[in-house]
Amino acid sequence: MSGSSIQTAKSFTLLIVDDDERARDFLQNTFESAQHQVKVAADAPTALRLLHREPCDLILLDIELPGIDGLALCRLLRAQEATRRLPIIVISAHDDEERKVSAFAAGADDFIVKPATRRELLSRVGTQIEAAQRERALVGSNRELGFLADLGRGLLVALEPLQVVRRVAGATYEAANAALCAAMLELPQPGDGEQARAEGGTTSAVTLSEAAACVFDREGSAEGGALIDQTKLRRWLATDPATSGRLEDPAEFFLRDEAHRIEYVAPLRFEGRALGALVVAFDRAEDCGETESRLIDAAAQQAALAARISSLYEAARSSSASLAKEVERRTAEAEAQRRFTEAIIDTLPVSLYAVDRNHRIVAWNRNRELGGQGIPRGEALGRNIFDVLTRQRRDILEREFGRAFETGRMERIEQESIAPDGTAKHWLVSKVPMRVGGDEVSHVITVGEDITTRVEANRAVARTEKLAAVGRLAAGVVHEINNPLATIAACAEALETRVAEGAFGQSTEIEDLREYLSLIRSEAFRCKTITNGLLDFSRNRAGQHAPVELGEVLEAAARLLRHQKRSRNVEIVVDATDVAAVSGDAGQLQQAVIILAENAIDAMPQGGTLLLRTRNEGAGVRVEVCDTGVGIPQENLARIFDPFFTTKEVGQGTGLGLAVCYGIVTEHGGRVAVDSVIGRGTTFTLVLPSLSEERLDGGRVS
Ligand code: ADP
Ligand code: MG
Repeated sequence: MSGSSIQTAKSFTLLIVDDDERARDFLQNTFESAQHQVKVAADAPTALRLLHREPCDLILLDIELPGIDGLALCRLLRAQEATRRLPIIVISAHDDEERKVSAFAAGADDFIVKPATRRELLSRVGTQIEAAQRERALVGSNRELGFLADLGRGLLVALEPLQVVRRVAGATYEAANAALCAAMLELPQPGDGEQARAEGGTTSAVTLSEAAACVFDREGSAEGGALIDQTKLRRWLATDPATSGRLEDPAEFFLRDEAHRIEYVAPLRFEGRALGALVVAFDRAEDCGETESRLIDAAAQQAALAARISSLYEAARSSSASLAKEVERRTAEAEAQRRFTEAIIDTLPVSLYAVDRNHRIVAWNRNRELGGQGIPRGEALGRNIFDVLTRQRRDILEREFGRAFETGRMERIEQESIAPDGTAKHWLVSKVPMRVGGDEVSHVITVGEDITTRVEANRAVARTEKLAAVGRLAAGVVHEINNPLATIAACAEALETRVAEGAFGQSTEIEDLREYLSLIRSEAFRCKTITNGLLDFSRNRAGQHAPVELGEVLEAAARLLRHQKRSRNVEIVVDATDVAAVSGDAGQLQQAVIILAENAIDAMPQGGTLLLRTRNEGAGVRVEVCDTGVGIPQENLARIFDPFFTTKEVGQGTGLGLAVCYGIVTEHGGRVAVDSVIGRGTTFTLVLPSLSEERLDGGRVS
């Protein structure tokens, strides 16, 4: 931008070009007496020299000049960049139209006919000067506006502090036609390595630890903050308020440069805080006019806004980085928590799934994937339960879920299913309502528990009880019938003896008598065989013999007992080390153990410990059933194995348990022993021959 800034002062510089000395003097006198500067030239070359040396505000040009005439000079001035807009008023002694037209065609702004009055001259010159000033101002503000718009656009994409200082320093350097231009910005986070990153390319701009700075030097290349006296600049920024202004004393300069004469410094101020500064150096005082000052101030304002945005951007970037880290950490934590919860529901020995109110499956554990009814999790999650459990009746399922959602009460349903291999499976299915964040049931969890073993064990118990009842009936009947039968047989035998002795003579009917008596005796014996068989049945229901692990038998018996109400207060302990197998019927052996264990539990109404233990013992395997119960009185010890011997109330005991147990053990070639201390407890010991031993013998150990 040129040094001819808008001048509001009335005084201006005038160049008068006229070869007529009188006319020149008159004109000079006229303007000088109106406080204007006047230069004079008698011909065109002199005028051009003067103009070249120093600019002026207006030319009064006579047409009739020696050599190059006024119109030629006018055209020349219009052709040159420096004088293209210089107001030119042509003066002539001739008032003809031809001359006026050619003068305007040559580029004159006005035409004055000599002689003119002082008033007219002053008025017409004044008008031209004002018009020229207005035009210059317009051109100036257009350029300013253009510059600011360009700078604004540039700063819009400058997000990092270094980009901001570079753009604003570069643009101001160009637009203000400055010798040097520096911009500095204090960084919000000192020492942040990210912000020290240079832009690369031709720029050598670097950042100090606490500020972003850039200087455009005399060669027009960007360099780092080395030329700025940052300490001084900081001190100035700290003054309250740091306002923009011209510096003419080199002692006050912020830029370390010998040649410049003037500095203009403007703070980058935003919301009352000086964030940095723009320092522009000029070699001549007149280069830094009002236009330059205004432009630098405007650039500083824009830069301050951009700097604020860039610091917000930096803050947002670093906080978003730490936010991302935090999100990542929490996500990992939540993921670990989720996996842990999933592991729990996968580890539970139940099959489990959950649906929301729209019957959409939201959880599906591993056990639900296994078995004949199993469905892979991937095929279930997110889908409608009725589309997945197609083998179940939809209306029943719908009612079950409906009840759980409506009543909020847990429901248990026992179900039986037949596995593909034909075996029956028993399930205890529970519908558990769940409330997530509210009073309303939001989900229903369905838990399926495989209770096949429990159901079968209960059935085995029922079977045992039934057998015991049959045994009792049989034993009772046998007990009642055997004695009369023995009497009948004995009587028949006695009569037969009497007949043989001839007690009834030799009548022909004797033969009949002998025959009937023989019939009675054989039939009585036949009855006895039947009742003995019945008794055998009641005691020994021989099953298939196979290798049996007594440890497993004890475990199974314990599991069964733990499910029973009566064992509530009793701690059941199994101690089964690695023992030899025995040959036998696992079911019967388990029944024998259960009989002993149930008696033991009955003997501990206040609770206690039941120990089921097995050990190798010589050629056999020993099983001990120990309790901490009431004990058995000495006088009863001999009778406890008798059928129908019981000390329990009517309906509580049958007196057949130990008899059956005894029958089973003896059937297996084993033996039973009992050891009891009143008030301390009882131990029943079974010894069964081990499998290898039985083989060696080729039969049972007696
Ligand atoms: P029940 O149990 O029906 O009485 P059992 O033959 O099983 O028939 O037992 C006969 C009796 O032996 C019992 O009534 C009880 O008096 C006694 N008895 C058996 N085992 C024990 C035990 N562990 N402790 C104390 N008394 C026992
Ligand atoms: Mg019993």
